[in-house]
Amino acid sequence: MDIHEYQAKEILAGFGVDVPAGALAYSPEQATYRARELGGDLWVVKAQVHAGGRGKAGGVKVCTTEAEIQNGCEEMFGRKLVTHQTGPEGKGIYRVYVEAGVPIEREIYLGFVLDRSSQRVMIVASAEGGMEIEEISAEKPESIVRATVEPAVGLQDFQCRQIAFKLGIEPAMTQQMVRTLQGCYRAFREHDATMVEINPLVVTGDSRIVALDAKMTFDDNALFRHPQIAELRDKSQEDPRESRAADRGLSYVGLEGNIGCIVNGAGLAMATMDTIKMAGGEPANFLDIGGGATPERVAKAFRLVMSDSNVQAVLVNIFAGINRCDWVAKGVVQALEEVQVDVPVIVRLAGTNVEEGQKILAQSGLPIIRASTLMEAAERAVGAWQNDLSHETNVRVVK
Ligand code: ADP
Ligand code: MG
Repeated sequence: MDIHEYQAKEILAGFGVDVPAGALAYSPEQATYRARELGGDLWVVKAQVHAGGRGKAGGVKVCTTEAEIQNGCEEMFGRKLVTHQTGPEGKGIYRVYVEAGVPIEREIYLGFVLDRSSQRVMIVASAEGGMEIEEISAEKPESIVRATVEPAVGLQDFQCRQIAFKLGIEPAMTQQMVRTLQGCYRAFREHDATMVEINPLVVTGDSRIVALDAKMTFDDNALFRHPQIAELRDKSQEDPRESRAADRGLSYVGLEGNIGCIVNGAGLAMATMDTIKMAGGEPANFLDIGGGATPERVAKAFRLVMSDSNVQAVLVNIFAGINRCDWVAKGVVQALEEVQVDVPVIVRLAGTNVEEGQKILAQSGLPIIRASTLMEAAERAVGAWQNDLSHETNVRVVK
């Protein structure tokens, strides 16, 4: 789960990381009021969306007057911000963070990530701040400093001093850098984060080390241990199809294609998507309805898949091991009676009681296209989507 910049900054500040003074606003008027409260004569208005690259996309505005803040906010609120991290659909701006402008002397990149190959938290830093890490690693790979943390002893101060030295931090500021690195590491560990990224971490004109940006991502599977983090979830920043699925306990990832998939098991769901692609189609989603595949779950899955207006055919692919095909078939029939599905539905069942399952589908009187292998199912789904069933001699459309 991702959180907003202002939320990440608040967490990091609690661990001793220096951040600029700032305040949140939900309207342009509130933003100017916040700026007045903050005082000073330079403010930065920052769109709060779950994505980086806001600066280049018009989501960060440096302002010197209240009128500039008002105008800047009016351009942002309610709009979708499209950055290279949001995808073409963008992310809605409903909150802005008004921050005191900081005199920047130099910008540093700092990231804490979970390195799966070493099974350690890894610190990645570069004196080339302001650029995205992907750019740095493509253009200035030699500038990247790495350190891994031994979990038994935690991040050591000598490691922090080494990083500070390699980044060329002035000796008088080394201690501040140690405090910043230790603060980020503790924030990471204590909240089961999977990423803390500060880009840029800046050295200011008055010799302070300040986090100008902050991004934190948390391990979804550990959120139950951190209700105060789970509360920060902002559904306005998520794909609405995915939030709906999460609320229903289904594992769903929305994609760009038009063949909806309803599958039990993540591996089978992946194989189904691959097979659709092999047959020349594009899956509209990844959806694992889990082992149970009860009629209720199948109905929920149909509702979810059909809520995507791009879907032009639905492929149901169920392997019944513990489950039974006749139950699943009943579930499909019940779901199709309950949920309005006005696109072709292709069902492939395999496993326990498959013949009985097929019989239930055939006798239901519903226009279900049946297939016996995954490839056949994928070809029929693609064929049905292309509205070109004529060449498919053995397709059986009931009713
Ligand atoms: P993003 O990474 O989404 O583009 P950042 O928070 O990194 O957003 O802001 C982009 C740039 O704007 C920073 O690299 C920095 O140069 C400038 N900036 C951001 N916040 C401030 C601030 N409080 N004071 C001065 N400059 C800022
Ligand atoms: Mg940034």
